[in-house]
Amino acid sequence: MDNFEQSKIRYANLPDCKVLIANMGKNKNGFNVCKKCGGAEVDDGNGNSVYSFSQPYHDSQLCRHDGSVARAIYLGHEFLTDMFMLDISYGSSELVGNRGAEEKNILRAAVTTLHEALKKAVALELDIDYNEISGGWRPRIKRSGDSHVEMFFYDNLSSGAGYSSLIGSILDKVLDRARLILVECACSRSCRSCLDNYWNQRNHQLFDRYLGLQLLNYARFGQVPDDYSITAQQEYLLPLKNLYLKMQVRHLLLQLYSRLFLQYERSLKVQGTLRKPLS
Ligand SMILES: [Zn+2]
Ligand SMILES: [Zn+2]
Repeated sequence: MDNFEQSKIRYANLPDCKVLIANMGKNKNGFNVCKKCGGAEVDDGNGNSVYSFSQPYHDSQLCRHDGSVARAIYLGHEFLTDMFMLDISYGSSELVGNRGAEEKNILRAAVTTLHEALKKAVALELDIDYNEISGGWRPRIKRSGDSHVEMFFYDNLSSGAGYSSLIGSILDKVLDRARLILVECACSRSCRSCLDNYWNQRNHQLFDRYLGLQLLNYARFGQVPDDYSITAQQEYLLPLKNLYLKMQVRHLLLQLYSRLFLQYERSLKVQGTLRKPLS
C-alpha cells in the first residue's frame, strides 16, 4: 500500500479482484429457496416450515415441493473487477470507537458520509456516471488504538472498466473535491444538493456532512475534532436556558399565589387551621 502524503491515508489499486456481493435478506435471515423449481421468499426468521411462494414463470402456481426448500440462504454472486482500497489509520483512543451504541452510530455516520462524498467526488473527477462505481467500508477497531477504517471502491462493470484503478493517480483531487462537497452546502446534515440521491436513500438518515468532514480532516491532516466552542454550546443550550427561566417565573408566581391565598384564608372569620403555612 502507498502512503498518501503525510497523512493517515494509505491506498492501493487492486486489479482483477474477486468481489462477492451478497443479499442477506431481511434482518440477515436470508431466503427460503426451492431447489426444484427455484421459487423463493424472504425468510422471516420464525422457523416455521409453511411456505407460500409461487414458482418462477408460473405466478398462479404455488411451489408444492415439500422437503426441497432450503432455508436461510444468502443470495450472492462473485465477479472479477478492478478495486481501489483506501485505508485510514484511525485513532480509536482519541476518537469514537466501538464502546456502546452511541459511539458506533457516530462512527457509522461519519464513515458512511465520507465514503459517499468520496464516491461522488470520484464520479465528478473522472466525469463518469455515479452508478459506474460501487463500494463499501469496514471498521477494524481495536481498543489499543491501532485501528483502521477500510474503504473500497470497485467498477460495477464485470472485468472492470478501469475507473477504480485511476483513483490513486488523482487521489489529491478526489479528496479536495470530497471536502468541497461536504463544506459547500447550507443544509444541517445532508440534502439533495450535497449527498442525497435516489440510489443512496437507505443511508439518508445516516448522512451527516459535519461528521464526514471531521473524519476527512482527521485522515488527511491529523486534525482531532474540537469540542463544541463556547458559542456553539451557548447556542445548543439556549432552549434549555429558556425553559429554566420559564420554570423560574412559574415558581415565583406559584409562591406569590400561595401567599395571597394564605392572606385571604386568614382574613376569613373562622381562623386557626392547623395547616402549616407553605412558607
Ligand atoms: Zn418448488
Ligand atoms: Zn446539503
